[in-house]
Amino acid sequence: MHSLVVTAAFAAALLASLGLKFWLATRQARHVARHRDAVPAPFIGTVTAEAHRKAADYTLAKGRFGLLSTAFSAAVLLGWTLLGGLDALNAALLGSVGVAWGPMAYQLALLAAFVLIGALLDAPFEWWSTFRIEQRFGFNRMTTGLWLADQAKGLAVGALIGLPLAALILWIMGATGGLWWLWAWVAWVGFNLTLLVLYPTVIAPLFNKFEPLADEALKHRVQALMQRCGFAAKGLFVMDGSRRSAHANAYFTGLGASKRVVFFDTLLSRLAPAEVEAVLAHELGHFKRRHVVKRMVGVFGLSLAGLALLGWLASLPAFYLGLGVRPSLGAPNDALALLLFMLALPPFTFFVSPLGAALSRKHEFEADAYACEQADGRALASALLKLHEDNASTLTPDPLYARFYYSHPPASERLAALPEPVAS
Ligand SMILES: [Zn+2]
Repeated sequence: MHSLVVTAAFAAALLASLGLKFWLATRQARHVARHRDAVPAPFIGTVTAEAHRKAADYTLAKGRFGLLSTAFSAAVLLGWTLLGGLDALNAALLGSVGVAWGPMAYQLALLAAFVLIGALLDAPFEWWSTFRIEQRFGFNRMTTGLWLADQAKGLAVGALIGLPLAALILWIMGATGGLWWLWAWVAWVGFNLTLLVLYPTVIAPLFNKFEPLADEALKHRVQALMQRCGFAAKGLFVMDGSRRSAHANAYFTGLGASKRVVFFDTLLSRLAPAEVEAVLAHELGHFKRRHVVKRMVGVFGLSLAGLALLGWLASLPAFYLGLGVRPSLGAPNDALALLLFMLALPPFTFFVSPLGAALSRKHEFEADAYACEQADGRALASALLKLHEDNASTLTPDPLYARFYYSHPPASERLAALPEPVAS
């Protein structure tokens, strides 16, 4: 394959995906702005005009900022690849770390330097999103000190977990021959399963406090629900989500016997007990309908396909040259291949993102239906409305934009799908 073919395919995918993203964002902005001043008919009486306008303004502000960061990311991507950034970084580290410490140290240094530079470039955007946008709409609860501590902890945890994993994968790539991608996949799956067990008990507590649920009445209610659904979990916890944000949530985490239920304190302070029960029943629905297992199998299948593709690409000089990097002759190119693959893939996969989003929305409908069987459907409806309002999610997204970006169905579709409340 000629390197020009690679360059042309990459440039075309990048341009087309950017064009599509900008077009979708423009549609979304127009659609939301047009409906800003009129609460949609099904919500008149339950959503105030003020809350509806706030949701529109929040959506528009995030959309404008999203466009800016999309443009910036595309520039950074070009900088790394066709404009020679990764090539220059690679040459510098090969000539210094590579000479002094050998090939493994050079490859780990390349990955670490890439991640650090990326984190530095992203930091101003994250800061702006938290302290300008979230702040303006009253969602941010973080201080600059906590934000800086989060960044530092994130990098430290990333290095502690990421460097050994990277070393293992690089070793597999160098030592196991033509089928390295199969062994790398086995290691990747093992790593992810380990992380599922370690995340709730070891990693999440580094960032948040988890207290056992103290409200006895609510605890009994929730335990009765879990018993009805035949669901075993290690414990019920309340997380201090309010330290960082006013957004509310509840989730399950862990694997097998280490599963736990986590409520954000912001959720408990906002919802009535029947609503908390309905939200939890929805989450249980994801387990009972086997969504979690299906998603995991899907992700592992896709990563096997991705690694097989990389196994082929990494052996082609055109893959490196076409993306602006000279492969080294005297040192392994495995870290380079990993980085180029991670950089070049997203512009191509963006076009199939509606498939993943559609599957996710289908699962949400199924979990809602399950929740209505096991708990009170009216409580689920009122909880969904409250959460929508508290998160200032727009009730009037552009339908096509939602097809690409929404993992959850828009509120109007979700509420319309709930069974009619039984007159009592
Ligand atoms: Zn869900």
